[in-house]
Amino acid sequence: MPGKYSLTAISEILGAKRSIAREVTIEHLLTDSRRITNASKSLFFALEGNRNGHDFIPELYAACVFSFVVKEDYQIPPELGNANFLLVKEVLPALQQLAAYHRSKFNLEVIAVTGSNGKTVVKEWLYQLLSPDKNVVRSPKSYNSQTGVPLSLWQIDAQNEIGIFEAGISLPGEMERLEAMIKPTIGVFTHFAAAHDEGFSSRKQKLGEKLKLFKNVHLLVYNQDQAPEEISEQLNVLKSFTISRKSEQADLFVFDWKTISGKTKFQALYQQKELNCCIPFTDEASIENALLCWGTMLALGADTATVSQRMETLNAVSMRLELKNGTHNCSIIDDSYNSDINSLEIALNFLERQKQHPKKTLILSDIYQSGLKSSELYKQVADLIKQNKIDKLIGVGKEISENQTFFQTPEKQFFEDTDSLLKQLPALQFKDETILLKGSRNFEFERISRVLSQKTHETILEINLNALQHNLNYYKSILKPGVKLMAMVKAFSYGSGSFEIAGILQFNTVDFLAVAYVDEGVALRNAGITLPIMVLNPEVTAFEELTKYQLEPEIYSFNLLEKLAVFINEKSISSFPVHLKIDTGMHRLGFEFYEVAQLCQLLKNNPQLKVKSVFSHLAASGSAEHDDFTFQQFNTFKKVCSQLEKALGYTFIKHISNTSAISRWPEMQLDMVRLGIGLYGIDTAIDQENNFLQPVATLKTSISQLKKVKAGETIGYGRNDMLEKDGKIATVRIGYADGYLRVFGNGNGKMLINGKYAPTIGHVSMDMCMLDVSDIEVQEDDEVIVFNEELRIETLAAQAGTIPYEILTNISQRVKRVYYYE
Ligand SMILES: *Cc1c(COP(=O)(O)O)cnc(C)c1O
Repeated sequence: MPGKYSLTAISEILGAKRSIAREVTIEHLLTDSRRITNASKSLFFALEGNRNGHDFIPELYAACVFSFVVKEDYQIPPELGNANFLLVKEVLPALQQLAAYHRSKFNLEVIAVTGSNGKTVVKEWLYQLLSPDKNVVRSPKSYNSQTGVPLSLWQIDAQNEIGIFEAGISLPGEMERLEAMIKPTIGVFTHFAAAHDEGFSSRKQKLGEKLKLFKNVHLLVYNQDQAPEEISEQLNVLKSFTISRKSEQADLFVFDWKTISGKTKFQALYQQKELNCCIPFTDEASIENALLCWGTMLALGADTATVSQRMETLNAVSMRLELKNGTHNCSIIDDSYNSDINSLEIALNFLERQKQHPKKTLILSDIYQSGLKSSELYKQVADLIKQNKIDKLIGVGKEISENQTFFQTPEKQFFEDTDSLLKQLPALQFKDETILLKGSRNFEFERISRVLSQKTHETILEINLNALQHNLNYYKSILKPGVKLMAMVKAFSYGSGSFEIAGILQFNTVDFLAVAYVDEGVALRNAGITLPIMVLNPEVTAFEELTKYQLEPEIYSFNLLEKLAVFINEKSISSFPVHLKIDTGMHRLGFEFYEVAQLCQLLKNNPQLKVKSVFSHLAASGSAEHDDFTFQQFNTFKKVCSQLEKALGYTFIKHISNTSAISRWPEMQLDMVRLGIGLYGIDTAIDQENNFLQPVATLKTSISQLKKVKAGETIGYGRNDMLEKDGKIATVRIGYADGYLRVFGNGNGKMLINGKYAPTIGHVSMDMCMLDVSDIEVQEDDEVIVFNEELRIETLAAQAGTIPYEILTNISQRVKRVYYYE
């Protein structure tokens, strides 16, 4: 049994002031009001993240959660007199303190994993390698943050012999707090991304920050080829275990590796003995992660033959939950790689957020969860499903079928195994629904996913919804209290999606959305978006839809204002919300300073229009050389606002800041800011060293053909490019019709294949282009990265002589978007 304490005991651990109406035993820590599992035994921590937890207490109380940790100045509503409250100075540190206490009661070996990439894979693989002999507790999914780590640690119980926990940071100072909680005894340091454009000093600083996790470990395992001097320089551990493919000095020296039919075979030297091992993967990231796991097992003293044997059966780890378009107007949420109750809860939660179809279907396999009786387990699962209001359950497997009486969904059906379901699939006639696929690995639900998903053209834009959420939270964290946030989702959310993005933003509470045209707004309304939506270019012909779908127009000219006033008047609508655009120097759209008196008069004559906000757009908020001009724009704007306010006799929301103004001009936040490209991880106003944004989009394609080409033979249209030496080229499935600009041709652009850069050769064609892969080991159908977190959109923009905005929004609609959430 994981953490289980009386509320009084918890109160003492936290040194909290308490008002306990009745004693309860707490088994669950709850940080998100939308994830209740066992209400009466849960303790809710009212965190002040992007949603203030305190606001949800009455709602939670109504859902039978009775115990709360709150800030000491929280005013307990009188109707909650029967609830339990622990009052603390700050809530997040209290959660961490409780987790640290729980951790400290167990004397087990604890492995902490950190690094830029690969944390989750390494954690899961170590689990796969260790769990046959040891009782292992590990972080669920990628629970590695300031709140994820405490929830992970809470799971430790007396039976566990070893723990594996991930630690991830996004801001300086966070690692020390994670270290204090996890108290790792062993450290594993995964990949350290060496961004080429970063100065050494900031790289060193980031590395130092990460290494704080290992300050008290007795063993550190790392790949020496990654960051050799820096690690030994910064960290003085008692013992380290190194892995290298270059240096004989390493504890595990991998001197040879070959890929043969989908596998990689390694030969290595360890304690003067030769070891062999083979993994069922060939990509560079998997190789690096696997070597690290191999080294860790050896460092832990495992039997060398056993480890090699287990390495051969490592399973692909996908912590990702993917959202794809299905056939018959369905959306498919694909989480077909693992299944335990924690991850089911997370997946159901994601399903809840995707509201584009009213009907919700869950296809669920048997769940493997150690330690619970099957009747107890499926009772819990049934409760979860009930709370999430699933309309249709399709159970697959013997155990879930045996326990079917627990489930009370309006529709339910059970199948013995995946094959029987696949046979019946056409008869089930899915239509207009969101389908969550959640299965344990051996049920091979990816086969179901393939049948239900639309075929994808092999060029895909992947959107990382965690990163989007992270970026949103970053900007929220630098806003002054009370400042509202409008998220710009115009032009298909800068190319990245429509309701999928808006849904995430709505879930994470922003105040407004802004779209370019009325039909973009209509699409969002049809997908269940209820936030206020501003339309930047409201066409006169679309006024009807504007009112029908409760969209709020930007008004930028007298012409538009007069026409709208007449229309609204004829409809007898009162207080119709409008947003006035003031031109303070951009000279694009908006009322000029000298027109404001006339504008005031018109608005007074048309009280059916209610000014909800007044705004202006900065022409050069990101560049220091234009700061005087920016400031002048701001001053003009303030003048216009006070003039309008005086004339109208009421106040309205004022806003002028876009992304780079938010970063550079805190004093310009006013009542609201308009966040655009920063959401997608790009903000040129932030210098590299302080950039904690995460890139959101990855564009990938694949190789359709490989060719040997002799020096001097021309390649592609126009015959203007050739190889200097005999070599080979790869034709890839992306061209200018997909948004890969023609200027990237002839070596101006590069793509990443198996971790190596391949320059373009010849002109880019409409649907494909060619890469020089003479020096790279590649095969047909290999994945090719056009941009990702390493090969950045900013770099592509520089190569093409344009700006990141254009690179992103150019990606054509025929490129499928896949959204994922980890
Ligand atoms: C697009 C847009 C923004 C957002 O700009 P970013 O630089 O992407 O943050 C803000 N305001 C208006 C009026 C816009 O059109």
